[in-house]
Amino acid sequence: MYRENAWKKYEDLAPVMEFAEGYKEFISLGKTERLAVREAVKLLQAAGFSPIEKKTKLAPGDKVYFVNKNKNIAAFIIGSSPLAEGLRILGAHIDSPRLDLKENPFYEKEGFALADTHYYGGVKKYQWVTIPLALHGVVCKKDGTTVEVHVGEDENDPVVGITDLLIHLSADQLQKPGAKVIEGEDLDVSLGSIPVDGEEKEAVKANVLRILKEKYGVEEEDFVSAEIEVVPAGKARDYGLDRSMVAGYGHDDRVCAYTSLKALLDIDKPAHTCVCILVDKEEIGSVGATGAHSVFFENTVTKIASLLGESHPFYATRLIFEASKMLSSDVSAGYDPLYPSVNDPKNAAYFGKGLVFNKYTGSRGKSGSNDANPEYYAWIRKTMDEANVHWQNAELGKVDQGGGGTIAYILGNYNMNVIDAGIAVHNMHAPMEIVSKVDVYEAYLGYKAFLLAE
Ligand code: MN
Ligand code: MN
Repeated sequence: MYRENAWKKYEDLAPVMEFAEGYKEFISLGKTERLAVREAVKLLQAAGFSPIEKKTKLAPGDKVYFVNKNKNIAAFIIGSSPLAEGLRILGAHIDSPRLDLKENPFYEKEGFALADTHYYGGVKKYQWVTIPLALHGVVCKKDGTTVEVHVGEDENDPVVGITDLLIHLSADQLQKPGAKVIEGEDLDVSLGSIPVDGEEKEAVKANVLRILKEKYGVEEEDFVSAEIEVVPAGKARDYGLDRSMVAGYGHDDRVCAYTSLKALLDIDKPAHTCVCILVDKEEIGSVGATGAHSVFFENTVTKIASLLGESHPFYATRLIFEASKMLSSDVSAGYDPLYPSVNDPKNAAYFGKGLVFNKYTGSRGKSGSNDANPEYYAWIRKTMDEANVHWQNAELGKVDQGGGGTIAYILGNYNMNVIDAGIAVHNMHAPMEIVSKVDVYEAYLGYKAFLLAE
């Protein structure tokens, strides 16, 4: 069903609403890559998936997963067809824009202990001040142990935050362009204001460090080898008086991660080997060992081929990729009635119209887009229509308005068919993003149809 309102499809909204409950829990608990991986593993294990490390051979119907360095994951259901017929891959990212503590973050100024941050991904910096923030992450110590830090989610926890000028004294600030109203080096998190007894210099900072030492057993220097993410505090909530939407942090792209993973969990005995990969670092260019550019996926598929008895698994993997089909499950810019001028309305993603296919993410003449082949797109249309999935097409805004990238082109380099397919989001990259529950559900149905289609 192309570009039609999906709410009208449902006489009974219960399946749509119930699916959103599971999703709200997933993003409320999975606010970092590591936490999203942990939630994904819980779901995978409950569905009978086991770690690939435990397998000495594989057979059709087997369900396995591989966790890469605690920050990304690939899950597989081995199909009844030979691997040479290609994989069906759903790939989403589980990193979201945020503020990271610097390696040497702590300082004291005028009676406040503060922590310096470096923002991660594209943020409108002015959106991150005067809201309650939580800290999540790990501190890795020289003795080889890792300590988890979580502050700000439990209602008895304190929260932290970043200050902004009072309106009364903002005459100069408000003359600045939006990108400069709050500057990157001013995104410093307030951590405390009590000076510890007996300390003369930096007594407030000393007190905060004492609290961290008591609670986590860590020293100031240990934060050099830490990964502490500053994210909006609190759970995802229903949004709108009709509860049609979800407000939460990190829909980009955990909404496509959850729906892709659920699609894999809810199918049985597929013909093609089906895969869900959840990657890290998309928001900073898919770099590093846990990003989409990493060979972790290639290596994992090689291992799968080997465990299925391929005598030349490296060569086999090349051919498997060439025969594969992929949906790059990533969010689209939802058409916002308050800001209509940035979209071409004929080629925009609308809330309530279902799964969004997008050939032209990217910018400046499609640079960084997947520009999927029309032959593949025709197969997608047939697959969605036969499964009665509501879907729409979109570009990421008007030509010359800007743009953005996804992981699609990276997997496309393996000579597989790839197109972006995801969910429309309002407030993308803001601390509170919005999605429509019916789009979340239609995406899940669309991803399932993709995995199972001939
Ligand atoms: Mn994204
Ligand atoms: Mn993004």
